[in-house]
Amino acid sequence: MNDDILTLNELKKYFFKKDGFFSLQQSVVKAVDGVNLSIKRGETLGLVGESGCGKSTLGRLILKLEEPTAGRICFEGEDVTACSKKKMRSLRKEMQIIFQDPYSSLNPRKTIGKIIEEPFIIHGIGDRKQRKEKVKKLLDLVGLRPEYIDRYPHEFSGGQRQRIGIARAISLHPKLIIADEPVSALDVSIQAQVLNLLYALQEEFHLTYLFIAHDLSVVKFVSDRVAVMYLGRIVELAKSTKIYNNSLHPYTEALLSAVPVPDPTMKKKRIILEGDPPNPIDPPSGCYFHTRCMYKMNICDKEYPPIKEVEKGHFVACHIRC
Ligand code: SF4
Repeated sequence: MNDDILTLNELKKYFFKKDGFFSLQQSVVKAVDGVNLSIKRGETLGLVGESGCGKSTLGRLILKLEEPTAGRICFEGEDVTACSKKKMRSLRKEMQIIFQDPYSSLNPRKTIGKIIEEPFIIHGIGDRKQRKEKVKKLLDLVGLRPEYIDRYPHEFSGGQRQRIGIARAISLHPKLIIADEPVSALDVSIQAQVLNLLYALQEEFHLTYLFIAHDLSVVKFVSDRVAVMYLGRIVELAKSTKIYNNSLHPYTEALLSAVPVPDPTMKKKRIILEGDPPNPIDPPSGCYFHTRCMYKMNICDKEYPPIKEVEKGHFVACHIRC
């Protein structure tokens, strides 16, 4: 059996925006611009990049919450991009999402019992009594007391709400979970608890995670491999240990320099990237990173470096590395 649970081929998502109310001209925002990626069964792939680089859009494309402009998404050999609505409905059981914001992702007017029960109702699973039992089990599984079933989201802390979101996401025993910045809205002390819970659930249910984050320090602890994204494109992909010990792309290097080291005696040079990421409506010519890169060469603003495998399993898109 193929080891890859998900493969993305030349995946693109462009948003078209009118330049003005009376204008016939349109600007194109290339949120995802030709991504090739595969996720192995049972692994955690970290996807990292600054806000606005397209990583959340990529997650939404995989779940077909957004329609791709071009490219292919294959889940367990099935072409998701060509799936009918009916087929997609059954595939959704296998792919779920955990949202970043545990405050806005839960309906404040519903009890948590009703929120977690929803996927069972949508997919016609069990009767009322059976569903209630399942919800109680799920609450227990994510470390919440089953007696809380009739409480409302506002009665819980941020960490507890994220546990409720996780319970909802795993309710149908999915194979793949897109975790879209699942801990970035939480206090640091709570982040570790939620990450530990995700890890325990992965072990128990053989889950595969696409773990989206803007912060490499979080991704470091959870990922088997890490993909670094810049302005809609993957610029580096490698095993987590390679990324942290021998990153090759200057952008990854800059992101890594911002990761705190828990050893006060260790001196680390922080690389401050000049300016904001370029406007995706009008990306720079050549390598998109050249406007901020400390190693820029003449070729860099003329030709985009294609992503290449520089050693087994280590891919990088940079003229000085390929
Ligand atoms: Fe920097 Fe050039 Fe490499 Fe782009 S291709 S990251 S500008 S060195």
